[in-house]
Amino acid sequence: LADVAMYQAKAEGRDGAHFYTPELNQRAQQRLQIETQLRHAVAAGELSLHYQPRMAVDGVGVMGMEALLRWHSAVLGPVGPDRFVPIAEETGLIVEIGNWVIDTACAQIAQWRAAGVPGMATEPGREGAQPLTVSVNLSAVQLSAPDLLERLAEALRQHAIPPGQLEIEITESTLMDHAEVHLRTLHAIRQLGIRLAIDDFGTGYSSLNYLNRFPIDLLKIDRSFVRDMLDDPRDLAIVKAIIGLGHTLDLRVVAEGVERELEAQALRAAGCDELQGYHYARPMPAPALADWLVGRTALTACTARTDRQPA
Ligand code: C2E
Ligand code: MG
Ligand code: MG
Ligand code: MG
Repeated sequence: LADVAMYQAKAEGRDGAHFYTPELNQRAQQRLQIETQLRHAVAAGELSLHYQPRMAVDGVGVMGMEALLRWHSAVLGPVGPDRFVPIAEETGLIVEIGNWVIDTACAQIAQWRAAGVPGMATEPGREGAQPLTVSVNLSAVQLSAPDLLERLAEALRQHAIPPGQLEIEITESTLMDHAEVHLRTLHAIRQLGIRLAIDDFGTGYSSLNYLNRFPIDLLKIDRSFVRDMLDDPRDLAIVKAIIGLGHTLDLRVVAEGVERELEAQALRAAGCDELQGYHYARPMPAPALADWLVGRTALTACTARTDRQPA
């Protein structure tokens, strides 16, 4: 246990005298267990990606989906990304895991395109339409990895995916730490044709100067504002301000964490461009997502047909 306590002290970057309570030891042990198990999660095939659709603001059209990491450990059972991603970041394991995510998402896009999943490839007669995008989340450590660009280019090439179909989400706080350094990486990623989104927007401290210089396509309003927006006028004001700022900078604005129709209505009225949240769909495994897309297409085709019928 002394070792675990030491580990905890190191992991949290503290030094000096400390009193280790039993709870702290338990927490440290859990952390250590997660780290130990995470070390072989990729090799053991314990990771998977779930996909959550992102809707047009009308709540009907589908714009794309976000890939979200899931871990089912043989020893620990299911562990959520909020618990293991921070540990993966601190230990550097996120680089290997993140590379797996990039490769798996690209392989999935290729598979969906080949299988003719609706919207994944440009369809005859709809040549102008942009195929659905798949976004992956990237950590700060990955953004600084020397081989990130090669990895991305290689994944696109190997799976023969139009670069514009891949999108990368980076949190506002990640970007604004060392903004100057990240600026070059972002431009290089954008040069590959990959789209860029700022995630959890509103929770960090953006420099408007950098925001203007980053080659980004999209802002994602943090879930916390959406959650409180109907009860707290200040949150609604922030949501509106983010949408205004995004549009001024020529960016699309996405709201995450939309759980209720009333929230969707308020966001629509505020001019938001896209909506993501449980109200529309939860993150789901790849086969379920493909079925969901097929089902929606049948539904919208059906609606379109009824619309055209004489009253
Ligand atoms: P995020 O990128 O902001 O992802 C959105 C989170 O909100 C996801 O949680 C999603 O399941 C959840 N969510 C979506 N709609 C709703 C809703 O209507 N209500 C509520 N309450 N939640 C909703 P998840 O999947 O647990 O992921 C948590 C975080 O873990 C992500 O936040 C992201 O920061 C990180 N993460 C997930 N996958 C990856 C990955 O592949 N790489 C990295 N670096 N981080 C990842
Ligand atoms: Mg995200
Ligand atoms: Mg987010
Ligand atoms: Mg988040």
